[in-house]
Amino acid sequence: MNEQIPLGSESLADNPQADEQRDDHTRELLSDVAYKRLGIVNVAFYGKANAGDGAWVLIDAGVAGTAGMIRRAAEKRFGKDARPAAIIMTHGHFDHAGALETLAEDWDVPIYAHPLELPYLNGTASYPPPDPSVGGGLMALLSPMYPRHPYDVSRWLQPLPEEGKVPHMPGWNWIHVPGHTPGQVALWREGDGVLLPADAFITTRQESAYAVAVQKPELHGPPAYFTQDWEAARASVERLAALEPEMVVTGHGPAMQGPEMREALHQLARNFEEIAVPEEGKYVRNPAMPESGDAYRSS
Ligand SMILES: [Zn+2]
Ligand SMILES: [Zn+2]
Repeated sequence: MNEQIPLGSESLADNPQADEQRDDHTRELLSDVAYKRLGIVNVAFYGKANAGDGAWVLIDAGVAGTAGMIRRAAEKRFGKDARPAAIIMTHGHFDHAGALETLAEDWDVPIYAHPLELPYLNGTASYPPPDPSVGGGLMALLSPMYPRHPYDVSRWLQPLPEEGKVPHMPGWNWIHVPGHTPGQVALWREGDGVLLPADAFITTRQESAYAVAVQKPELHGPPAYFTQDWEAARASVERLAALEPEMVVTGHGPAMQGPEMREALHQLARNFEEIAVPEEGKYVRNPAMPESGDAYRSS
């Protein structure tokens, strides 16, 4: 699978000069929204600079071994020993939950996830195996080696509240965007159109190690090797495109903004089948659904 929908560098939302001056190891997009790239994945920070202890939120928890990097960035941005009010998990894949157990131990703060994602985070279920045949890149070929065992942070874990509000993030809502995983959520702030779509769609070709390294922006469907239900994934992109976001901070790839990004998102939603869905693949014909229990494996 080649490039999906190319995006020009003028749609990048980053401000590298300002980031360098601030030197807090994050990419700040708005006064209260920043993110950090940890190799192959992003984590996001909600909260204003120097907010202090308990006055900010971490969204996702990176790959294993990055707890120190996340903590140091958070201390630089929010203040010494500043712990978040909570950690919100968009989903439980290894590249989003890798440092979660360490951070939870260190910070002792609540962790929120969608009810359908809880089994992957409370020690009871593994994700179905990835499909290395889709996406056609090194990251896809290596995917069977990626950890998919359950994490167990049940001591801190809570379901996101039912009415769609995001704890400790006033003005934000969570939106259920299944397909990539059963309980994936996007975070959305209607007031200024900021969307964190998790891996519902991304802005780099995650299947390719080369594309991930150079981060040439493109609008891309969910990472193919890990996507369990393509029809649900399509419906999720449609739902997010309808929001008409101003800015997107995806799980992988650079943050993007503006009309070109929006148009690309609509194009992806309209032509999802041709653009994002692999022609063949384990979960293309046989989606792993939560209803049948197929999405939750014992090993
Ligand atoms: Zn994922
Ligand atoms: Zn991911």
